[in-house]
Amino acid sequence: MNVLVRSGLGPLCAVARAAIPSIWRGKYFSSGNEPAENPVTPMLRHLIYKIKSTGPITVAEYMKEVLTNPAKGYYVYRDMLGEKGDFITSPEISQIFGELLGIWFISEWMATGKSTAFQLVELGPGRGTLVGDILRVFTQLGSVLKNCDISVHLVEVSQKLSEIQALTLTEEKVPLERNAGSPVYMKGVTKSGIPVSWYRDLHDVPKGYSFYLAHEFFDVLPVHKFQKTPQGWREVFVDIDPQVSDKLRFVLAPSATPAEAFIQGFCGHKLHDVLIAPGTADLTADVDFSYLRRMAQGKVASLGPIKQHTFLKNMGIDVRLKVLLDKSNEPSVRQQLLQGYDMLMNPKKMGERFNFFALLPHQRLQGGRHRRNARQSKPFASLVAGFSELAWQ
Ligand code: SAH
Repeated sequence: MNVLVRSGLGPLCAVARAAIPSIWRGKYFSSGNEPAENPVTPMLRHLIYKIKSTGPITVAEYMKEVLTNPAKGYYVYRDMLGEKGDFITSPEISQIFGELLGIWFISEWMATGKSTAFQLVELGPGRGTLVGDILRVFTQLGSVLKNCDISVHLVEVSQKLSEIQALTLTEEKVPLERNAGSPVYMKGVTKSGIPVSWYRDLHDVPKGYSFYLAHEFFDVLPVHKFQKTPQGWREVFVDIDPQVSDKLRFVLAPSATPAEAFIQGFCGHKLHDVLIAPGTADLTADVDFSYLRRMAQGKVASLGPIKQHTFLKNMGIDVRLKVLLDKSNEPSVRQQLLQGYDMLMNPKKMGERFNFFALLPHQRLQGGRHRRNARQSKPFASLVAGFSELAWQ
């Protein structure tokens, strides 16, 4: 099992999995479609009703409702991604991003002994652009992967986005099998003939030799939020504002709540107006990689986080850009390639804002039977592509 995670970086303070990262944010690259005022959305009505019936809700519950409520959640029925959407992600900016990740998976597959089969599992695949670009590389390097049985498994709660993913990946060449009541709610075959299945829950993905990919996924998982008070740490809840009708506000729990048991530390906090027009805009929390690393310790090894520009540089983005530029005579395509490169790599844009982080089996970093020779002095970790320069083995 190898897991590649890419996310915005949370401050490296000790925050429990279920506890709040210190900053909440809207997506970094916004198209400016955010609601300007506080319209009474169906989600706001639903939340007010819920809070009136059962009392203030935790921030985690607020995020869960706003993002993935089956009837009204932000992610469930809309396509918020891409140039016309609310925010744009790296795979939507440049094909090179997904291509380099495709190379990363092949490089890891080779380094871990070229298994005869593997599952590529993606959590929150958006429009399916990233996995589509990865699969194109698998086809292009078909001679390397020719004896390997590959299947794709997508974990996605959004009905709308799963339909878009299916269209991107299969072009509906073979009709899709749908079964809304089953844990595998959709099945199909990609353009290149690879079986692909959709799940709402990671636990339903079959056990098997797997590579996992989580791109801008951990950021959208619900988190609890805490604030330090003279009485100690108190959990932040969302309640109805008694002063203004149809408005929500943050309140502090008067006494300790069960989630407080998870706090190990906390560093500063900053509130954004995430209570305005719930259901119409994205909510994300910065990922705390140090917490991920600590939780994984002992079970798996971790690498990173490292800045996106370093990872992509190590993966050979400059060479790939040159190949694509040399192939194209079309000025608009060349300009798009260069602009995409700048967006991904520029430290002031996505280059330093986003990070890569990998979880790997211990033996992958210890060398084991894949160590090239006994006298090799560099730690084996240096051979994990992206975290050091890509070198085909
Ligand atoms: N990886 C994509 C999209 C990131 S947006 C990209 O980089 O372009 C987050 C994605 O996670 C969306 O596809 C959203 O529908 C999905 N998602 C959000 N919460 C989820 C959950 N709890 N389980 C599964 N998918 C979820």
